[in-house]
Amino acid sequence: MIPVRIHDEAEGSRDRFGRPLHDLRISVTDRCNFRCTYCMPKELFGASYRFMPRSELLSFEEITRLASIFAGHGVRKIRLTGGEPLLRQGLDDLVRMLSAVPGIEDLTLTTNGSLLTRRHARSLRAAGLRRLTVSLDAVDDAVFSSMNDVGFPVEPVLEAIENAGGEGLSPVKINMVVKRGVNEHDVVPMAERFRGTAHIVRFIEYMDVGNTNGWRLDDVVPAREIVETIGRAHPLRPVEPEYPGEVARRWRYADGAGEIGVISSVTAPFCGACTRARLSAEGRLYTCLFASEGFDLRRLVRSGASDESLSAAIGSVWGRRDDRYSELRTSNTPSEPPTSERRIEMSYIGG
Ligand code: SAM
Ligand code: SF4
Ligand code: SF4
Repeated sequence: MIPVRIHDEAEGSRDRFGRPLHDLRISVTDRCNFRCTYCMPKELFGASYRFMPRSELLSFEEITRLASIFAGHGVRKIRLTGGEPLLRQGLDDLVRMLSAVPGIEDLTLTTNGSLLTRRHARSLRAAGLRRLTVSLDAVDDAVFSSMNDVGFPVEPVLEAIENAGGEGLSPVKINMVVKRGVNEHDVVPMAERFRGTAHIVRFIEYMDVGNTNGWRLDDVVPAREIVETIGRAHPLRPVEPEYPGEVARRWRYADGAGEIGVISSVTAPFCGACTRARLSAEGRLYTCLFASEGFDLRRLVRSGASDESLSAAIGSVWGRRDDRYSELRTSNTPSEPPTSERRIEMSYIGG
């Protein structure tokens, strides 16, 4: 049996497989102004969909308190996400509060870029945001607007990327989810659009998160194929990971025109190095993107629990963690994800 290791002051908490707790993704809202077909399909996230009322969302004070307790367990990196995080009012204040939490070395945000004006990029930077990831699935307007399914054009997102870079949130990472037959032809144009800039495009295999996107293995374009396709147009050389467990595999253009990354969550999963916890907007703690159950931290917080008991709860959830969904999925190689279990949605937990 694998020994269970729990909180150790010197090195932070470890799960059942010895994985430390290093990253925390915090979802600040479950709402979004896009309806990306692979994430919030319109048919299910329509006018009658019930989003969380404001009273259910963790307040900024509650989030910050939890973040400092997580830092005590070894968390060094926080990523704010959603839904669309820029829809949450006053986000700059949260960034300011989190950037003052002792132990947090890296604070970043993933956004669809639709609301990121130059002014907003400046105020986020001034509040303490270090870096930013912008999602953009195509440089072709027709493809992009049909993927976000609200007819949103490419140009404002390109401007958002420039706004972020111009305000020092650099290098900007650009996430492109690649779906077979939908935007695979935009892989090379996307790479070319950002070749020669400081920005880094990360091509992401389409994942079977949640139960609503109708995922099939046939829709996945393997990372290896993406690298070969780009490499035929512009030769690439592998780059050593910056740190152990880096999620994206990095490649540099042989002619020195920058780098790209690929995230092979389906074809080459990285559960062995997964050090991420996820906190939903209503304060549930999830230890895997594919979990069906989260631990209700908000209930503890709102029932007056002390920092010590919150810390003990977090340590015990992480200490029991034995998730490795993607590795198991790959070893079983199903063509469809299991349908019986109800899993959390990407828009709820934020990727
Ligand atoms: N709304 C923000 C955005 O789109 O950047 C933040 C939340 S979104 C859920 C976070 C990331 O998850 C995005 O880059 C999105 O493309 C990615 N994502 C969503 N569903 C996905 C799926 N089924 N497979 C792979 N990536 C997915
Ligand atoms: Fe919204 Fe992001 Fe999901 Fe698209 S991927 S629907 S932008 S939360
Ligand atoms: Fe981490 Fe779960 Fe993804 Fe594996 S499947 S990498 S454990 S989030």
